[in-house]
Parts: sequence; structure tokens; C-alpha cells
Amino acid sequence: MNYCETCRLAVEGEICPVCGDDFLRPIHGKDYCFLAAKEEMWAKMLQELLQNNHIPAVLLPTLGAGISLKSGQTEQYQIFVPYEGLEQASGLLQMVFGDACPENEEANDYFPA
Ligand SMILES: [Zn+2]
Repeated sequence: MNYCETCRLAVEGEICPVCGDDFLRPIHGKDYCFLAAKEEMWAKMLQELLQNNHIPAVLLPTLGAGISLKSGQTEQYQIFVPYEGLEQASGLLQMVFGDACPENEEANDYFPA
């Protein structure tokens, strides 16, 4: 796994898919990686949850971070966690936001023979 210092992103290949940088270096456990972007309320809730799980998450507002927002979009915060906590953080993210989808009812239509 490599690390793009420009995007703060864990990259699987040799070239960053976001900025096209090919001067990536091997990732370290302490490197902050992009986890998710959420509205302020959710971002802060998530940060607290992560910190409760000993993952030192940091928030950055997307404005001023070099990312252009589409007009009408609410301001979001990017959440970063150290690479060594990324997997656990993804799991927590899934737990909190993963089953917010109300369309799981279709599963009830499936009857095993
Ligand atoms: Zn990049």
C-alpha cells in the first residue's frame, strides 16, 4: 500500500487515482488517510466515536482544502484517521451509516426452499 501526501490517501497502485501523482511512498501506520466526508454534525459525531475507540481522528472542512464544491452543496468535513486505524474506522463507519438504507425490506421476499 502506498500513500499520496497531496491527497492524504492510501493508494493501492503506483499512481494516485485522485491527483495522478506517481511519486508515492510506502504508507506508514501513522499516516493520516481519508476516511469519509460528512456534514458537520455527523463528522463531529463520528470523530467522537472514533476517539472513544482510541482512533485519533481529525476533521478538515472541505472548503479551503483545495476541493471545489458544487453550488448548493452543504459544507462537509473530511475525516482522516491514521492508516493503522483505518480498517477499524471503516468498520465503525459501516456500523453507524451502513444500515441507514431503508430498502433492505426486499430481503424479506426471499424464502429459501
Ligand atoms: Zn493524490
